[in-house]
Amino acid sequence: MQIEFTATYDVDQVLTFSLPDKSVRGRIARIGPALSEILQAHDYPPVIRLLLSEALVITTLMGSLIQKSSGQLTIQAQSTSGVVELLVCDFLDSRVRGYVQFRDDAILQQDRLPDLARLFGDGRLVVTFDMAASKERYQGLVELRGASMTQVVRQYFIQSEQIPTVLQTAINLDGDEPAAAGMLLQYLPDGEEGRTRLDTLDSDFGWSCIAQLARTTDDRDDALLEEPGLRSALRRLFPDEDTVMVHETTVLQKGCRCSLEHYDSILSRFSKEDRREMQNEDGVILVDCAFCARQFAIQD
Ligand SMILES: [Zn+2]
Repeated sequence: MQIEFTATYDVDQVLTFSLPDKSVRGRIARIGPALSEILQAHDYPPVIRLLLSEALVITTLMGSLIQKSSGQLTIQAQSTSGVVELLVCDFLDSRVRGYVQFRDDAILQQDRLPDLARLFGDGRLVVTFDMAASKERYQGLVELRGASMTQVVRQYFIQSEQIPTVLQTAINLDGDEPAAAGMLLQYLPDGEEGRTRLDTLDSDFGWSCIAQLARTTDDRDDALLEEPGLRSALRRLFPDEDTVMVHETTVLQKGCRCSLEHYDSILSRFSKEDRREMQNEDGVILVDCAFCARQFAIQD
């Protein structure tokens, strides 16, 4: 008798792990159906699809640094001089969403991401951690320079967080089932998991450890995208580690807060006069959700 095992392809998941010998905490993430849903809400040209996919997987990796239900991560790229005017992605409670606002331009039709200066001009990326429990907000800002969002966010970690970090992403939008995958490794000698602020780490050991892990990148894109299971991807990513401790798997969704109830409650905070000004001639307030490209008609 022959038994065939079909490995399922893990998507819309984040897997957290650690490399105890190196004091490194990590996570790998892969988004598939959630990514499709986000991309399909808009008619994006190829370059915008690539850009948004990369931003979404980065948002997922960074957002999952926040412990569940305790806060939101938002990344926002803004420019007044570039082809891309606005890119917003956020992550809350294992739900990710994002959209891009752009001007039509021939450069957006190519099949590779052009240098970010061509897309954003002199734009900036703002990274915001809103912590629900403490009501604190941490914000970091980095210039949109380089060949990819991944490079920009690596720079953010060096400048703003000062935590030795490896960030890697791999995108495949060919075919019917787009996938975006990524890995985030951080040197955290105090063993902190979840998001708590660390005092500035002044550790040459940490930086050299991380630099060494960043160099072993031979077939990392393939491992991230092609390996069916995220656990088996880990085996391929760290063949030289004696111990890779797998922690937990979190299932992701494309998530948005837009609903009639949500907008109703927002509008109820405005005065009657203000609401009257928002109404159209039929007495209806139309509210757009840019993330989902949906419009809600609210009868006041
Ligand atoms: Zn929405």
